[in-house]
Amino acid sequence: MPDRTNRIGRHLPTSGGLKKTLATIETLGCETVQIFVSNPQGWADPTLRADAEDFASGTVEAGIWPVVVHAKYLINLASPDPDHRERSARTLARELVAAGEVGAHLVVVHSGSHGGEGEGVGMDRLVEGLDLARELAAGYAGASGRVAEPVVENSVGAGTQLCSTFDTLAEVARRAGARACVDTCHAHAAGYDLSTPESAKAVGEELRGKMGDSVALIHLNDAKNGMGSHRDGHRRIGEGEIPRESLPGFFAALAGIPVVMETPYGTPDVDLDQMRLVKELAGGLPLAPNGV
Ligand SMILES: [Zn+2]
Ligand SMILES: [Zn+2]
Repeated sequence: MPDRTNRIGRHLPTSGGLKKTLATIETLGCETVQIFVSNPQGWADPTLRADAEDFASGTVEAGIWPVVVHAKYLINLASPDPDHRERSARTLARELVAAGEVGAHLVVVHSGSHGGEGEGVGMDRLVEGLDLARELAAGYAGASGRVAEPVVENSVGAGTQLCSTFDTLAEVARRAGARACVDTCHAHAAGYDLSTPESAKAVGEELRGKMGDSVALIHLNDAKNGMGSHRDGHRRIGEGEIPRESLPGFFAALAGIPVVMETPYGTPDVDLDQMRLVKELAGGLPLAPNGV
């Protein structure tokens, strides 16, 4: 088995305080992590947490990289409504700054929906919104100037959602000068067949071929719904439509890219088993010394 080069982690709750999140990172053996910095279902701006600095230094000390924030689900940079677009850009900017304050490197943002105005118009708006959010964030940033990097996530392609294909995701990334996050559940539901080792390897190779180094992150989720269903729904690894046998070839095509699970929480034992399973499927338990 080849050495493992993908760093593995998962989304974790912050409701018990960031100190508890740090403890869970250690218990589970996370090498990367994802959190929210605000309520993802509401518009309220993130507020600076008293434990932000401790989390930033704690993750550095523990060698956690990258630290990822998931932006609010309400953000739609491509909305046909100009007010919603502007609010989305401002809100994303606030999240980029709040993410910087907790020492995060990346902020995953959904690619959004064009709402009936057409994919081309939607992609233009998404690119403009990413530009505006980064510009606003630079202005909002405090003296530290720490601002995280926005990365655009692929969708399942439901309704008028953008970026369900690697081609459109690559185009937005290139035009915005941004990187991307590719979610395996979304890709499968969008029509990329991850159901067999052969097809999953081919999907990984296609992704690498089309996007190269602009894939900053993989969201590793098993899919509740079938290939091409265009319906989201995450399952634990090995409990949905993507068999675990699909993953070694997929990872091999995407060497070095960090991996974050957004799967349903289980008991601490279940969560630990999932971490170990994914590390094993990515090439063996210890991380290769050159796995950066
Ligand atoms: Zn995701
Ligand atoms: Zn999802």
